[in-house]
Amino acid sequence: MQRVLFPLLMIGLTFLPACEPSETAKKTDDTSIESRVIDPVTITKTAYKGEADTKTQPTVDDEKANAAIAESQTTASKSASIKPAYRKAHEDLDATLWMQTSAEYYATCRQAYRLAEKQLATAIDTPTWSADLVQQAELSGHQSDKNDLPTAVILDIDETVLDNSPYQARRIREDGSFTPETWKTWVEEATASPVPGVKEFLQVAKDSGVEVFFVTNRENAVEHATRRNLEELGLIEPDAVDRILSKRERDEWTSDKTTRRAHIAKRYRILLLIGDDLNDFVSIGEKPSSQARHDLAVEHADMWGTQWIQLPNANYGGWERSVYDWDDSAEDTVKLKKKYGALQAE
Ligand SMILES: [Mg+2]
Repeated sequence: MQRVLFPLLMIGLTFLPACEPSETAKKTDDTSIESRVIDPVTITKTAYKGEADTKTQPTVDDEKANAAIAESQTTASKSASIKPAYRKAHEDLDATLWMQTSAEYYATCRQAYRLAEKQLATAIDTPTWSADLVQQAELSGHQSDKNDLPTAVILDIDETVLDNSPYQARRIREDGSFTPETWKTWVEEATASPVPGVKEFLQVAKDSGVEVFFVTNRENAVEHATRRNLEELGLIEPDAVDRILSKRERDEWTSDKTTRRAHIAKRYRILLLIGDDLNDFVSIGEKPSSQARHDLAVEHADMWGTQWIQLPNANYGGWERSVYDWDDSAEDTVKLKKKYGALQAE
């Protein structure tokens, strides 16, 4: 019935003069299609924020946006007063809502940690098994004294163990971006929630006699707050030995986590690496392109879901930074323009 009624309704609207805006109304209507078409080079934070004066606003335009607009023009809006959708939301809105409200985010995280639990048993029973590429090479093919090492798992913290989406939500409400100052304030509140499934996984690791290390790119200066957060969530014992390896805790512990994995691999056989960023698993080198990152993930295809467990993070990470060429200090508008340029429509 709907299939019949909708075309009839659209035909009716086309021939109803009352539904067609007058020429005057068209010219003065800020929401007309023409007023949406602008040059991406001129996009400004004001346009991004979607403030009140749409007439003076440069709006987002690239070939794809124009194509979408043209398409909407030829359908609904051409024949009636229906306006094309006009997006002016913060660019992190959907990703943050997905993480905070969706059943799918919960399910994906839970699934990842359930898989980690299953892999743990196999990993413990396989003496040549290691999730660290260097250690894996040492153990494979020949008997090594490292086969007898005690076992450990390594987890990243942000968006792997702790859910920082409230921090993202604050930035969206304030229409702002990440800054080291606001991040530090959030971290020191120590109120992040656990990522779904992590608590259960850590219990299984503990019951299996496996040590748990947290290798994080949080600065060492906030390790006390991080520890407090993890303690309050029951993810580490208050009297536990320090197993949080923060960035720059030692001179050689840079944002590349390889040196920290090597430090742990000296004394433990590393069963699993769990993280939300490629950097949590393998050295990515200096500012790799998105394609290089993707190629690296494909190169290690056999590691995913076996030794390496990936958590979802559509909000931020190396994937986003590589899109804007790792130029963190660039203006938001410059980053946004690069993001539009990276879209693949074919
Ligand atoms: Mg992380």
